Amino acid sequence: HFERRIPLPANRDELYRLSATFNALLDRLQEAFNREKQFTADASHELKTPLSAVQGTLEVLIRRPREREHYEERIRFCLLELHRMAGLIEQLLLLARHDAREVSATLRSIDINALIREVAERQESRAGEKEITIRVPEESSFIVAADREMLGIILDNIIANAVNYSPRSRTVTIRTGTENGLPFCTISDMGKGIEESKLEAVFERFYRVDASRSIGSGGSGLGLSIVKKLADLQGITVRAESRPGEGATFRLLFPYPSDSSSR
Ligand code: ADP
Repeated sequence: HFERRIPLPANRDELYRLSATFNALLDRLQEAFNREKQFTADASHELKTPLSAVQGTLEVLIRRPREREHYEERIRFCLLELHRMAGLIEQLLLLARHDAREVSATLRSIDINALIREVAERQESRAGEKEITIRVPEESSFIVAADREMLGIILDNIIANAVNYSPRSRTVTIRTGTENGLPFCTISDMGKGIEESKLEAVFERFYRVDASRSIGSGGSGLGLSIVKKLADLQGITVRAESRPGEGATFRLLFPYPSDSSSR
């Protein structure tokens, strides 16, 4: 704890201001420290939940042998939980790498429409299970300045959420275009949307609007915090927009005009 605050001198001279600045710095340090502690606690909790589920399941199986069918079902459950843990660890490592600033964005002129088609194809099977149609932009290409790999992860996360939080048989629509001379990309779904007061919070680590609902969908609450981080690195603004009952739209705003050459 950072408790050695400087007592503020009585008169408001330079020393007063210096002490006040120092104390404000300590407050910020304390805040960062608390955030870090909270993050570690959340991460441990998130990993412990699937781990306990696997452990419990295996312990019961070994104590009370059953018929083969039962084994298969339980083993499948364990695999799913392990898969979730592996995914979570991958996300945590990604965040840690970015926190340590080991990663920087390489902005190039890339065709976002082609990238969207690629990502949509990857999500096709999950969308198919729910009979969800993913509508990609009609124009064959649209050039933006971005880091291809990072933009791929961003689109992957937002489109996966759109599919995840949509009821069956709806459409997820992805558009690209220009607004005030700058490129944008929107991903809109027809799910239950996000309350206005929570539109910013969804980008926080481990934040879930409805924790119980997300458990079944295997969500970790990390996806959008990764999206935000990767967007920041590229100068992309990312915003969630929603009116209750009308679904959610995630908007990416790019910092350079569409015709800008490689950077
Ligand atoms: P998760 O792994 O839980 O999906 P995210 O960081 O990707 O974590 O999202 C955080 C939370 O934001 C989700 O748990 C969900 O409550 C909300 N959310 C994200 N995308 C959507 C969407 N398209 N529609 C409604 N809610 C969403």
